[in-house]
Amino acid sequence: MAAAQVDLTRLAKRAGVKFIQASATGLDPQRRSLECSNGARLEAALISLDLGGMCRAVSGPGLIPIKPLDRWALAWHANGDAWLASAQPEAPFCVVGGGIAAVELAIACAERAQQVHGALEGRVHLISGSEAIAPGEPVALQRRLSSALARAGVQLSMGQHIQHVDDQGLTSARGHRFAYRAGLVATGVAPSPWLAQTGIATTAAGWVAREASLASRSHPWIWASGDMAEGPQGALPKAGVHAVRQGEVLARNLRRAIAHSPLETFRPQRRYLSLIRSGAGQATGRWGRWCAEGEWVSRWKSALDHSFVDSLVA
Ligand SMILES: Cc1cc2nc3c(=O)[nH]c(=O)nc-3n(C[C@H](O)[C@H](O)[C@H](O)COP(=O)(O)OP(=O)(O)OC[C@H]3O[C@@H](n4cnc5c(N)ncnc54)[C@H](O)[C@@H]3O)c2cc1C
Repeated sequence: MAAAQVDLTRLAKRAGVKFIQASATGLDPQRRSLECSNGARLEAALISLDLGGMCRAVSGPGLIPIKPLDRWALAWHANGDAWLASAQPEAPFCVVGGGIAAVELAIACAERAQQVHGALEGRVHLISGSEAIAPGEPVALQRRLSSALARAGVQLSMGQHIQHVDDQGLTSARGHRFAYRAGLVATGVAPSPWLAQTGIATTAAGWVAREASLASRSHPWIWASGDMAEGPQGALPKAGVHAVRQGEVLARNLRRAIAHSPLETFRPQRRYLSLIRSGAGQATGRWGRWCAEGEWVSRWKSALDHSFVDSLVA
């Protein structure tokens, strides 16, 4: 965990930025102000939002949404091993979702359970609403991820869209019931609900509608990047690679906006690299329809991840 942490106070200081640790709870476009959970109201000439998303609603006792990532990471750090230890075949640790993030997490949980608590075959259960693992991904990747789940001993229930959660467990739209001890919810991201009340233009799905410059379509002095915004090219996959690339354009465009210079256009990559941990010291890489798996992919992923975090903590 420490290796993945970035000291924001230090990073902000290095960049000459004032850091306030609080949540934004409201935005008033008329007054050009942001309300914060610490009671402060910040007025600004430009406001740049990068709030990510939240997990789509599946909530219940012992179920932890993996978005926002930082809240989940803290909860996992404090309780993850205990949750895995308490999992039983009749009440396993569940991961709800079936996309790449859910698969990666289910494999990681199964491996962690085995490392810390011994053989726990079948005590991690992946429950997915879709019939296929990682729907929409190339078949070669789906096959590799399915094999990785089997290798890690993850129990699978496909086509089970969870509709209801109570003390007895999870109930799917097909009426199947799943008991669980604790679990993670990785069902894709949804927009933060308070954005809809601000009057900023949003897409039908509730994401901030932005221009190719990353400025809001309705309020040119508000900027929105990363998972929370969608541009004229339509919905991009909710991937860190787009958020990071947008960051570079955003920084330049904020300076250009202050200088009243013409704005740059963000052009998303058509293809991008995904590197997914697939257990047993291996990772699976995807570039377009190309797919490969091995320990070398895992080393590659570690090198990229470490160099990214190191660039922020150096
Ligand atoms: C398990 C998992 C694995 C992934 N692996 C990959 C991968 O290998 N490659 C890849 O490209 N993508 C990956 N992704 C996707 C990637 O994490 C996201 O696309 C990326 O983090 C989006 O960046 P962002 O800055 O838009 O939002 P986030 O990273 O979600 O950051 C948003 C931040 O805003 C904060 N925030 C939210 N609301 C408020 C508020 N009201 N006030 C103040 N702060 C607020 C949040 O706490 C958070 O710190 C993965 C996702 C998951 C869940």
